Amino acid sequence: MKKLVMIPGPTNVSDRVMWAMLSPIINHRSHDFGELYSAIEKRCKNVFLTKNEVVVLSASGTGGVDASLGSLLQDGDNLVVPSFGEFSSRLGDSARYSGANVIVPEAKLGTVPSLDEIEKALKSVPKVKALCVVYNETSTGVTWRKLRELKELVEKYGALYVVDAISVLGGDSLPVDDLGVDICIGASQKCIAAPPGIAMVSVSDEAKKAMDEVKTPRTQYFHLPKYFKYAEIGETPYTPALSLFFALNEALKMVEEEGLEKRIRRHSHCAKAFYDAFEALDLKPFVENKEMRSNTVIGILYPQGIDDKKFRTLLDDKFGILIAGGFGALKGKMFRVGSMGEINEKLVSNTVSGIGESIKVSGHNCQPSMALEAAWKTLSMLHSG
Ligand code: PLP
Repeated sequence: MKKLVMIPGPTNVSDRVMWAMLSPIINHRSHDFGELYSAIEKRCKNVFLTKNEVVVLSASGTGGVDASLGSLLQDGDNLVVPSFGEFSSRLGDSARYSGANVIVPEAKLGTVPSLDEIEKALKSVPKVKALCVVYNETSTGVTWRKLRELKELVEKYGALYVVDAISVLGGDSLPVDDLGVDICIGASQKCIAAPPGIAMVSVSDEAKKAMDEVKTPRTQYFHLPKYFKYAEIGETPYTPALSLFFALNEALKMVEEEGLEKRIRRHSHCAKAFYDAFEALDLKPFVENKEMRSNTVIGILYPQGIDDKKFRTLLDDKFGILIAGGFGALKGKMFRVGSMGEINEKLVSNTVSGIGESIKVSGHNCQPSMALEAAWKTLSMLHSG
């Protein structure tokens, strides 16, 4: 049975995009592939809102992170990588694998470090090569809405600016050029609503220059300068995941048809509908500060006595709805709903109903119909623009 995939990626993929994967295999060293690659690159640039070059990699998001840092860093480079959850911590790990000395301003889960803490880290060594941040921390549901302020710090200290936007690209505001982001990493399986397996990385000229200066790159498959070279002739250095490329191109066409701004507004309205519905169920978001609450990953604390596994199994068995639990220290303490990609009124309504009924049966005293009412009230904004 087809499930409603409401985890924070991979997410539901439309039939139209799935069908695109049945396109016949083509020669990846041909004019046809060149056309496909340049169409994807052009469409990605429109989603990243950048004139920078965009590389399309046959890898999941982590491949995009490893390619970026593995191509940029050499032994002893200083890097500031704030940590406030699983994925920001993994970003630091990727930098360490690439030989960097990683300075880690930390924040409590559910928050982000202050700008003062970031500046202190940038000042703590003579030269920082890059500040690397996760825009949307999928493990907690925090969005770092201070990318512009971080840009000013990056400029002040002459560093490069690297942003992991994997769980937000195509679902929230991300004007890469306007924000001065040098390297921005996205992935296919989240707000773009394509199948998993492709990472997209935008790279500024300054970052490309820094990559060219790396004498001993640590990676062959993920060495980005090689991708820039091959892109000039409309190819990738190694065999691309062709069927996924067809699917990604179709998903990006759908983003284009909807319009990026409208899509971002849809994500924001649907997220608000979820938060309002859960409030009506007397459930608390994990992230206390409303400003920091994600528009793509809704993190909700369990009330006392609810068993994560039993609740999510019930939701799957009776409603066919998949949501995620908490990560690491948050395991068993919260659930996470992906409000991404195809998210719309019906998906929100079905998910809210399923969660309301399942959490009630699991022992939480609430009125599921009130959650639906709250969601519908907010969703009516979708129709008014
Ligand atoms: N960074 C963030 C913010 C993510 O949300 C994820 C995946 O959820 C990753 C990195 C890793 O991406 P992938 O699982 O596609 O390798």
